Amino acid sequence: PPGIEALKRARLAEVFGFDRFRPGQQDVVDAVLAGVPTLAVMPTGAGKSLCYQLPALVFGGLSIVISPLIALMDDQVNALKLQGVAAEAIHSGKSREDNVAIWRRVAAGEVSLLYLAPERLMTERMLAALSRLTLGLVAVDEAHCISQWGHSFRNEYLGLGRLREIFPNVPLVALTATADKATRDDIVERLFGGQARVFVSGFDRPNIFIGVEDKKDPARQIESFVRAREGLSGIVYRISRKKVDETAERLSAAGIRALPYHAGLSTEVRGANQETFLAEDGVVMVATVAFGMGIDKSDVRYVLHADSPGTLEAYYQEIGRAGRDGQPAEALLLYSAGDIATRRRFLDEEPSSPERKMVEARRLDAMVGFCEAVTCRRAVLLGYFGERAKACGACDVCRDPPKVVDASRDAQLVLRI
Ligand code: ADP
Ligand code: MG
Ligand code: ZN
Repeated sequence: PPGIEALKRARLAEVFGFDRFRPGQQDVVDAVLAGVPTLAVMPTGAGKSLCYQLPALVFGGLSIVISPLIALMDDQVNALKLQGVAAEAIHSGKSREDNVAIWRRVAAGEVSLLYLAPERLMTERMLAALSRLTLGLVAVDEAHCISQWGHSFRNEYLGLGRLREIFPNVPLVALTATADKATRDDIVERLFGGQARVFVSGFDRPNIFIGVEDKKDPARQIESFVRAREGLSGIVYRISRKKVDETAERLSAAGIRALPYHAGLSTEVRGANQETFLAEDGVVMVATVAFGMGIDKSDVRYVLHADSPGTLEAYYQEIGRAGRDGQPAEALLLYSAGDIATRRRFLDEEPSSPERKMVEARRLDAMVGFCEAVTCRRAVLLGYFGERAKACGACDVCRDPPKVVDASRDAQLVLRI
């Protein structure tokens, strides 16, 4: 109805101060407003919060948000309060008195968004108390926590599968940045009982040129790539501490400002190297996957994977550290079938369930599929996440489409199947 449309626009501008939706947000907001069970998959920073906060404010009344961590809840509540939204969190980090006082305000209808940990929500007392109130919506943030295929499964999230029966008439929306199909399907099954509209968006980073090269002589390949980009900040990922040290030493010996980063270094050295990378221009960070979480440097111009990551999620996350300023950036991966074979061996030796191994093996297959792609690499990457790619032009395959089909290579691909 036009009334809701106008209210939606008005809240977007007045409460959040945004003049437009980011890619994907509007579809999710509309589905939630229409009462459709919805799973929204968007990368970190894409703006998932708005996808439930805005509908909650349009519905009015009280909405519940499930979040796994006290710190995440407090951040969101503080941000909302600054925007003039009556948001609160009830959690174990607060005194009993504080929690009771907040509950009184909730019961009096004075709170719009109430943040809770899953174990708090799913107590019989809380559910009984909430059932006496009218809820606008229930949002499950960090919804991958319900999936055993996710990277941070939380037992408490499993109980949330009862929500759709406890609140059958309340719109339910789940949000996550973890996009692979196994996890997505698992969330839809466990949280929604198999029925949900799934939206995937915001994964494209069109300013990052994506390329893959055969790994022949990695030391030389790394050096020539980095040398050709001297003066630019970049990250070189290697699989092991030993390789990080070797590569950093070799680059340094060649007169390039390269620093190592891995968990085997002392906290002081790691901290100092990270500080230098952030503060100075033109430093190359040679690192294991230990580097990058929470690093906010907007002008990283390239990410070079000298060894293949084990999953496209990891790859995507790591290349996403380049070009945050929106300026052109590059991601190059040095691919070798031997690296993949090593990863497969590790997988076989892992003490995990056959099911888990199968999921991990499929993730590795997808990585190989991406590296050996003869069609647009961005399309393969986004397709893996469930998002459709628009015109690319910024990958090695689009730039130099294969002219002749290499029969032996195709035969290899077929043999693998
Ligand atoms: P996510 O949960 O997906 O990681 P957040 O919801 O925390 O992301 O949002 C990330 C940032 O994007 C926040 O600073 C938020 O204010 C901003 N943001 C969200 N939606 C919009 C929009 N439509 N226009 C501009 N900025 C937005
Ligand atoms: Mg979030
Ligand atoms: Zn392309």
